[in-house]
Amino acid sequence: QAKANGRNRYEFFTKEIAESIRQRDMIEVLLKDALSDKTFELAYMPIVDLDNGDIVGCEALLRCPSLQQQGIGPDVFIPIAESTGLIKKIDLRVIEQAFVDYLQLKSRGFEGYVAVNISAVELRNEKFVGQLCELLAHYRVPAHKIHLELTETRLISPDQDAVAVLEDLQQLGFQLVLDDFGTGYTAFNQLMHYPVSGLKIDRSFIGYCDNPQKVKMVEIILALANVYELNVVAEGVETQEQAAYLAEQGCQYGQGYLFSKPIPFDDFCQKLEPGKLAAG
Ligand code: C2E
Ligand code: MG
Ligand code: MG
Ligand code: MG
Repeated sequence: QAKANGRNRYEFFTKEIAESIRQRDMIEVLLKDALSDKTFELAYMPIVDLDNGDIVGCEALLRCPSLQQQGIGPDVFIPIAESTGLIKKIDLRVIEQAFVDYLQLKSRGFEGYVAVNISAVELRNEKFVGQLCELLAHYRVPAHKIHLELTETRLISPDQDAVAVLEDLQQLGFQLVLDDFGTGYTAFNQLMHYPVSGLKIDRSFIGYCDNPQKVKMVEIILALANVYELNVVAEGVETQEQAAYLAEQGCQYGQGYLFSKPIPFDDFCQKLEPGKLAAG
């Protein structure tokens, strides 16, 4: 009886593993197809000044329609893109599209910034800085209007090489931002070793404004950001209460479903105040 049970469990697990390997392979194939067919899309999420509701910037978020159809989003496919190395091409594609979109926004009178996510893989990629340099020169985008977001959890311990890449990116004029802050391993006293100009508070801390422990964490992060003179964006703002609480605590910027879900570029353009958009 026990043996039979054991075997069932074993078979169950092998099936699960086989299924997940199949799924990974399927995702890899669809990512390759999306790269060669150029079917990736960017969705944009406004970043808002919590004091007055002005849109100060936006974040570009990658969408892969063929995977989206199956309910698979970037939280699942980005790690697979990272482990297969496809991420390098994907990140460049995203950055290039974000540059094109930025220029479009700017020509319509938008004075804000565009944030893009880059993988921590790029901090080990010797070609990355040069490639961004070429893209900047080609599109003539002012680098300070581009924020590069790096997820804190994936940085773990930044060695000299990784910090050197960050410094080069900063030299080029990009603003560097630590994403999902509070969930990773960045000892607070290590923060000064990163050449970053901003933090994004992870949305897990924002969703529980009624949880005293999480509220304390938000306050600690804001105090820390103040010491290091870092910009702070709260992610995952979904209610008016959260926005009001954050503003009261001195968090200047927010992003979340309260303001807008990620939307296609054209819809984002529509959202900008008419006064800020040139006619046509
Ligand atoms: P992230 O950079 O922290 O992006 C924020 C994620 O939180 C987005 O999910 C966004 O849709 C979601 N979000 C923002 N506000 C709210 C809210 O109020 N409520 C809820 N429920 N969700 C909210 P998304 O688009 O699924 O992206 C997931 C992650 O995938 C991103 O987290 C980022 O780490 C990664 N990612 C997305 N696009 C790219 C890309 O182009 N390149 C790289 N390397 N990573 C990307
Ligand atoms: Mg981000
Ligand atoms: Mg985040
Ligand atoms: Mg995230």
